[in-house]
Amino acid sequence: MSKKRILIVGGVAGGASCAARARRMSEEAEIIIFERGAFVSFANCGLPYYVGNVIAEERKLLVATPELFKTRFNIEVRLESTVLSIDRGQKRIEVLENQTGRRYAEKYDALVLSPGAAPLRPPLPGIDLPGIFSLRTIPDSRQIRQWLEEHCVRHVVVVGGGFIGLEMAENLVKRGISVTMLERLPQVMPPLDPEMAVPVQKHLQAKGVTLSLGNAVKSFSATPEEGISVGTSSGEAFEAEMVVLAIGVKPETQLAVSAGLRLGKCGGIWVDHQMKTSDPSIWAVGDAVEVPDFVTGEPTLVPLAGPANRQGRLAADSIFGREVHFRGVQGTAVVGVFDLTIATTGASEKTLKRLGKEYEKVYLHPGHHAGYYPGARMISLKLIFSPKGGKILGAQAVGEAGVERRMDVIAMAIQKGGTVFDLEEAELCYAPQYGTAKDPVNLAGMVAANLLKGDVPTAHWEGTVGTTALIVDVRDPHEHAAGHPAGAINIPLPELRARLAEIPRDREVWVHCGVGQRSYYATRILKLNGFRVKNLSGGFATFKNHPPSGKHKESC
Ligand code: FAD
Repeated sequence: MSKKRILIVGGVAGGASCAARARRMSEEAEIIIFERGAFVSFANCGLPYYVGNVIAEERKLLVATPELFKTRFNIEVRLESTVLSIDRGQKRIEVLENQTGRRYAEKYDALVLSPGAAPLRPPLPGIDLPGIFSLRTIPDSRQIRQWLEEHCVRHVVVVGGGFIGLEMAENLVKRGISVTMLERLPQVMPPLDPEMAVPVQKHLQAKGVTLSLGNAVKSFSATPEEGISVGTSSGEAFEAEMVVLAIGVKPETQLAVSAGLRLGKCGGIWVDHQMKTSDPSIWAVGDAVEVPDFVTGEPTLVPLAGPANRQGRLAADSIFGREVHFRGVQGTAVVGVFDLTIATTGASEKTLKRLGKEYEKVYLHPGHHAGYYPGARMISLKLIFSPKGGKILGAQAVGEAGVERRMDVIAMAIQKGGTVFDLEEAELCYAPQYGTAKDPVNLAGMVAANLLKGDVPTAHWEGTVGTTALIVDVRDPHEHAAGHPAGAINIPLPELRARLAEIPRDREVWVHCGVGQRSYYATRILKLNGFRVKNLSGGFATFKNHPPSGKHKESC
């Protein structure tokens, strides 16, 4: 049983972690990794920072070497070895030695596919011009660095405002290069809801990045000055000495397809809960596979390192007969953009809307630690949950500090099927320099629980369009004067009890303040005095993040 021959295709996140785990399951098994590239187990997540010189030495990207795999794990790594095909009947793969052209076959008892995903390169005019790069491998990052240096690059167009695009923009700006970011969607960071992306967009612009949203690339052409002109759907053209394409990836399924393995609905390799493909002797993991979304149950592709590593480990356990069950992915992710951290877990509002699922949401903007301790920074947090029972469905947060810790707690709560009431009760670390006695996670739970219990009826800014409700701003007059939603009247919270007679009883009243705390108190006062009242979730801070559409006017 344990004298298995395990062959692994791909030697980075999923493949390497599967190999190392397999060795811990058996001392007898023969384990061989086949890697098409020249490196095994390298840090692809570190590549943008190598381009930006934050990681100055290429060797720091090498998490492990073939020698380490041999000496520590007794695992053989064959680099520059491309697996060409799988003969499922004979349980055999055909391998090409890239350097010599030699082809040979290897037999397996268990085969694991972890070939990753390839950057998208749509067949646009001029896409193969020199100076247009994607970033996936160490050689890619080397070529980008070399081009930057040899061509004295001053301007770069980054196409795509997702994780890699954002990281590349930051790293290029830090090298003193001016960056234009083009994004087909009307927002950056597609996993976020649009209003949560607004602070990210403002931050990019504040750091000097030129943003062109809702503008798709149509063509590339060479300029007389040896640059590249990027033509777009808006009709504008952007000139640069280099282009970085970061418009997403597609699962590497060629081997699986030619072997007749089943694919899933999204085009990834189909696997069951044990990471087994449609062939019982072949497992597949990582960016190449399609797995269920933990929250929605829908099949999905989530090309992230965490799932790839966990799946690799599970596949190894499954190969050795352990009962394993992959729970699915919830898209927990974090990215840093200059001084901002953006993190998300679970379903977004737009996904739930698209799937026609019921949800509620709240916004809040607490400090990342006690306000009286120097250096507190605001976290903008959105919590999405079921209106029936309060099960947590997703969360997103943006801020300068303490963001990822809060999203990690909520990610775990989601995985355990937790509710907003669990967040209310969560006992979390607190000292003034780290948090608040009511942590932002507790506060998110409390705000949502107040809504569900009916203590604080809640409205959202998008609902103010065309509403007959009276909007009451309970901030101080100087705050109101500096900017407020059109039509809002100002009754500061300290005056509210004395001025109740000014508020109509025959129409709904929606109150707001800066971030939602004073309006929460105001909502309770008005509710207890018999008014039909709602709290505008997240206050003026959330209002300002709603994308400018003309629907949400601001007056001074
Ligand atoms: P990979 O790590 O891509 O490994 C696949 C390997 O298989 C490749 O080396 C390839 O050469 C090899 N291969 C393919 N076909 C064959 C074949 N036929 N024969 C032999 N070998 C083959 N994720 C995060 O969670 N956080 C981050 O911050 C983050 N940053 C990233 C930054 C960049 C620039 C990139 C490119 C990715 C980043 N990711 C990040 C994503 C993460 O790196 C991937 O999700 C993860 O590496 C996927 O692991 P994998 O094993 O499926 O594929």
